[in-house]
Amino acid sequence: MEFKEIEKKVVENALSYGKKYNIDIDEDFALLKLYEEVGELSQAVLIHRKKSRPEKHIAEEKSKEELGKELADVLGLVIVNAYLMGIDLEKSLIQKWINR
Ligand SMILES: [Mg+2]
Repeated sequence: MEFKEIEKKVVENALSYGKKYNIDIDEDFALLKLYEEVGELSQAVLIHRKKSRPEKHIAEEKSKEELGKELADVLGLVIVNAYLMGIDLEKSLIQKWINR
């Protein structure tokens, strides 16, 4: 799947989530939600590295799967933020990370 197609589907999912739960998916919501997901990623890393309370520890395979999910949430929210800000994320990514 091309990056643009992934972006389109991610944005569609975010907008339908907003409709379903009657939440306005605006720039404030998207930015705060991104912070929330970064927090969830931090928690997943702490659990994966067994730096959390022992009762939170889970099998390594499962904790790695959770890491992947939280990274995906962060990326998804980055994509939604870019869409709401009118940013061509693919272009910015290439400019900033590939064609420096
Ligand atoms: Mg999450």
